[in-house]
Amino acid sequence: MKIGGHFPISKGLVKALEMTGRAGGNTMQFFTKNPGQWKSKKIDPMIAGRFIQAAKKKEIAPLIVHDSYLINLASADEELLRKSIKAFIEEIERAEMLSAKYIVTHMGAHKGAGEKSGLEILTRSVAESIEKTPGMDVTILLETTAGQGTQLGYSFSHIGHVIKNVRDSERLGVCLDTCHIFAAGYDITSDEGYKKTLDEFEREIGLKNLKVVHVNDAKKPLGSRVDRHEFIGKGHIGIGAFERIVNDPGFSNIPLILETPEPEKMHKKYIKLLRYLGGETPPPPL
Ligand code: FE
Ligand code: FE
Ligand code: ZN
Repeated sequence: MKIGGHFPISKGLVKALEMTGRAGGNTMQFFTKNPGQWKSKKIDPMIAGRFIQAAKKKEIAPLIVHDSYLINLASADEELLRKSIKAFIEEIERAEMLSAKYIVTHMGAHKGAGEKSGLEILTRSVAESIEKTPGMDVTILLETTAGQGTQLGYSFSHIGHVIKNVRDSERLGVCLDTCHIFAAGYDITSDEGYKKTLDEFEREIGLKNLKVVHVNDAKKPLGSRVDRHEFIGKGHIGIGAFERIVNDPGFSNIPLILETPEPEKMHKKYIKLLRYLGGETPPPPL
């Protein structure tokens, strides 16, 4: 199984790979810059080369980049929209430079302009970002959201809309975040709910477009629309849903990424737990 976590790059990109290795991970997600700032420093090609080499040597793949939190590709404010598209294109270029297979982005928020117009703006922004990064291999993944505030992407139909309406959708896919969809009202806690959720995903988006899963439990109850991650098995989703995921043949090639606190200390424990639930390793000491 491809299991890993989001790791910090504050000590350097190669250090993040080392943390992944120590945690028992074989895939990794990371930011390429401070996600709370617009500005970014150019990546030194030497550093990129060393990172790519180290990932190869450690057999950590795929590499997954997550974009900045400031980017709003659905903004009705022209200035913020231009700034967002520019920043997102830079994110794509940085991800490409680091040989990342995927770049995960949030769907943006309409901020009162309405969902319909927000989705149109978002669709155009995504199309423009693809057009302006010709020949790049990195695939853009739209992440399901909890639907906080005026956030788009809490409904699978939103994501389906964007994918269907972007002409060059070869370079588009989806990242499903278990905490987010649960907060958005998709109940994956029972066999029946799990099946219903995946059926809706298939209908609205197509399971072939699912490329990455963020495996987070939820601090808040079903339908809360609040995005608060919890350690696997400690939240409102519970361990059963994660057991279903790691044993679902449909998910066998999909990287699973943990996005919970204290990665250096805690990811190891939960990567072990997931490998155990999937029948890969003996029970972990919990
Ligand atoms: Fe995210
Ligand atoms: Fe996520
Ligand atoms: Zn989240």
